[in-house]
Amino acid sequence: MLYLDTKYISLISGKLQKFKKSNTTYNFRCPYCGDSQKNKNRARGYFFQKKGSYIFKCHNCGVGRTLANFLKDNDSSLFSEYLLESYKAFAVTPRKIRTANIIFFMTILFNWLIILTILTHLFHICNPRAKKKI
Ligand SMILES: [Zn+2]
Repeated sequence: MLYLDTKYISLISGKLQKFKKSNTTYNFRCPYCGDSQKNKNRARGYFFQKKGSYIFKCHNCGVGRTLANFLKDNDSSLFSEYLLESYKAFAVTPRKIRTANIIFFMTILFNWLIILTILTHLFHICNPRAKKKI
């Protein structure tokens, strides 16, 4: 859910100091340790991509979080919105797969019915006696 992660990173970015984006990585002052107290420009907190989602890592205190846990720690209302949206996004996919499966099995069933009808007709053509019985 990369697009969802990107959306929520931009939503929480307003709360993060020295927030900036470079390519696919985001950099800002770590909210866990507060980053360097001497140098207010130092920013060692990062969001980076890993296996299709974003992970937080601080190179100062070493804290590592998934985006979901980062939101939980820093903005509980954003966290619940994120959970709800991920749930919706996941719920859409299985329904599509289910419909595709039903269509697939219906097609197979329909094909078999056609084959069965053709076979029955052939059987009656080759066997005139069988036709009389019916
Ligand atoms: Zn830190």
